[in-house]
Amino acid sequence: MDQPATAFSATPLDDIRDRIAKSAAIAGRPAQDVTLIAISKTHPSEAIVPLIAQGQRVFGENRVQEAQAKWPALIEATPDVQLHLVGQLQSNKAADAVALFDCIHSLDRLSLVTALGKAMEKEGRQVPCFVQVNIGAEEQKGGCAIDEVPALLAEAHAAQVPVLGLMCVPPAEVEAAPYFALLAKIAADHGLAGLSMGMSGDFETAVLLGATHVRVGSALFGARE
Ligand SMILES: *Cc1c(COP(=O)(O)O)cnc(C)c1O
Repeated sequence: MDQPATAFSATPLDDIRDRIAKSAAIAGRPAQDVTLIAISKTHPSEAIVPLIAQGQRVFGENRVQEAQAKWPALIEATPDVQLHLVGQLQSNKAADAVALFDCIHSLDRLSLVTALGKAMEKEGRQVPCFVQVNIGAEEQKGGCAIDEVPALLAEAHAAQVPVLGLMCVPPAEVEAAPYFALLAKIAADHGLAGLSMGMSGDFETAVLLGATHVRVGSALFGARE
């Protein structure tokens, strides 16, 4: 299909949406099955407002404090905006996270399951979570080990912490596809439908391999400092 790609200056958001739709079509999946999370970490509200004006409604941040500073005003102006947490969460910030975020992608250890379970009960608010898996078994990376997934899921179930699926950040500098495929297999083995995988450099591959949530930052907002 030949299309004059930049005959009209499409915005980065149009471009990403288009690429998600094309990858979904190749995989025989409806494009609506893929949620684009615009990762706005480090970027000020002035950079976020134009995306909201273009209809983007799902955003992601990686730090609770930064999100607390930026988002309450943005949410007040556009109440149907959804905010996802994609960064490591300290147990002592669990209550703050439950109060502000609509989804948490970094459930990675038993102590955090406990803290989130308590916080959700106290706030009277169920926040769906993804279990983050250290899919490349990298020492410095966040996420639980693959063989810890069953115990974490069981504990989340017991603590009434809702789990949508699995999340990963594959090793840098190597082909991501095998890691995405492995995450998809582990999720399927546990009957989990959600797959949070794919970032600016590899979201099309992730969609081909079943991603339900892609987390795109720099391709939308430009490079971070
Ligand atoms: C920053 C971040 C992203 C977005 O990365 P880009 O390469 O800028 O698209 C996605 N997921 C997580 C967990 C992140 O921390």
